[in-house]
This record gives sequence, C-alpha cells and structure tokens, in this order.
Amino acid sequence: MSRQRVLFIGGLGRSGTTLIEKLVNEAPETFAVGETVHLWERGVRDQERCGCAERFAECSHWPEVGRLAFGGWDALNLRRAIDLRWSVDRSRRLPQIMAVHRGRTSLQADQLEYLDFMRKVLLASAEHSGADVLLDSSKHLSTAALLALDPELDVRVLHVVRDPRGVAYSWTKAVERPETDGEMMPTYRPSRTALRWVTDNRGFDALAKAGVPTLQLRYEDFLADPVASLQAIGELAGIESLADPTGLSFLDTSNDPVTAKLSTPMHSVAGNPLRFGADDITLRLDDAWRTKLDPKARKTVTRITRPALSRYGYTP
Ligand SMILES: [Zn+2]
Repeated sequence: MSRQRVLFIGGLGRSGTTLIEKLVNEAPETFAVGETVHLWERGVRDQERCGCAERFAECSHWPEVGRLAFGGWDALNLRRAIDLRWSVDRSRRLPQIMAVHRGRTSLQADQLEYLDFMRKVLLASAEHSGADVLLDSSKHLSTAALLALDPELDVRVLHVVRDPRGVAYSWTKAVERPETDGEMMPTYRPSRTALRWVTDNRGFDALAKAGVPTLQLRYEDFLADPVASLQAIGELAGIESLADPTGLSFLDTSNDPVTAKLSTPMHSVAGNPLRFGADDITLRLDDAWRTKLDPKARKTVTRITRPALSRYGYTP
C-alpha cells in the first residue's frame, strides 16, 4: 500500500506560511486541510468557519470527512481527541518524539492513539478530495514530528523561516480572527517570539537531520523568486504541476512584484485570516518591521536570536 503524501508547512506563525499554502493549493494535485492540530476544537467542537467561509458542519468537505473517518462527527469521541491533542502534541514531549525518530525508543500508547485520530482525518480528506498531496499547515514542530512517525503517512516538511524581527513585529499587532465574531488573535511580546523562533527553527533542523524530507525556505527568498521556490516545493512533495514551470499559470510574472490569480477554494480549518482573502494577491515582501518595530524590541529580538541569525542568512 502506498503511503499518503502530506506536505507539512512548518515554522512560526506570521512567517508567510498562509501565502505559500494558498499558492501551493492552486496545484490540482493538492488539497489544503488547514491546521489539523486545531481541528478538534475550532472545527468539530466550536463549528468555526472553514476556509471556504461555510460553518464547519455546512461545508462541502468536512461533514463528509467525518462520515468517512468516524461514521459521522457525532460518533467520534471528541472529548478523547481533544484530551489527546493537549497531552500528546506538546513541545515538552519533543525530546521523546525525537528519540523515536532516532530509533532509540518507540511511540507510547497515547501517541499511537492520537495518530490514529489524525490519520483517519487525513486519509478521509484525501479520499473525499481525490488529492494526491494534502497540505497540512499546522506549523507546530510537535505536530510535524508526530505525523512523520505514522507508517501510513509520507510526510515532507516545508520549513519556512522569516527574519525574526519581522515575525516579532507581526505578533505585536492586533488582528481579528474572521472565522469568529470579533475574536482577536493573540499578541506576543517580541522576546517571547524570539525565543520561540530559536527553538522552533532548531527543532525543524533536527527533524530534517533525523531523516524527514525537508525543504528550508526563507520567506524573503520565496518572495524574491516565487517561481523557483514553488518549483522547489513541487520537487520536495512530488507535485508535478509545480515542479514544471508551465504548471504555474496562476502566476503573472510580467508584473513586478509577481501577482497570483487564485481560483481554488480552500477548506482549511483554523489558521491565518489571510486564508479568507481576495482572489488576486500581489507577492510583495512585507518588511514594515524595518521602520515600525520599536528599536528597543528590535534590539531584544536581535540579541536573543543572534547565535542563529547568520545560520539562516540574516544579518544582526
Ligand atoms: Zn469548507
């Protein structure tokens, strides 16, 4: 039996992952399931709006996935799925998860049980959509590391890195979550974002070193050359229409910056407000942090991330 291919988009939130997800979703072989780590609470329990703008229970994808995976979402032990998510898919369990990757120990019973829930959802999503490659934009390192241990999934990781000062600036801004009625996304102090930036990126590097096929892509490089970047993503995940430049007809490269005409709806759960955005997007680098990030905060972020900055090609 061939394993289900999953392109996992990893990295810190506000690193341009949603933009990349939307573009990759244009490839006919792919289907974006969104942030499956949040599926149980935000989708099944809270009935937030799907990326297609319908409520979870009314969209054309998720009700059918529930039926295929569990005989209906009503038949699922939701309490158990949520409990497992909060006990299993945690950063604090990463040392043990990484030890499994290195062949030093085995998955524990609760991890196997959680993977069973996740796999059922992913396989049902592939079956219902007919897609060869699922895009999971959960972003969390722990989610990627766990999914990559499932024997029925062929997980490849797109590790997106952005200048930590840009990430930190973005997390200081108040943004509304459009799938809710007026609820805001959290904001984080720059020092917290900087610490996460260091540990997450290091973790994704370790996962690649442990053998999980990974492409590291800088947000800034993606926008400097979206065509070459999408081709590289296509090669990583075996998405032929992206790997072949003629498959990128949704990009208008005669414009500078390049524009994209998006026509494929997304049934992604949870995630960044951008996923509800307009059909045409301009692929322009957002480097507002250079002028808008408070100088003191900039200094803090640079100090905390300094040992890793040059490793990812950024200058202090
Ligand atoms: Zn939907």
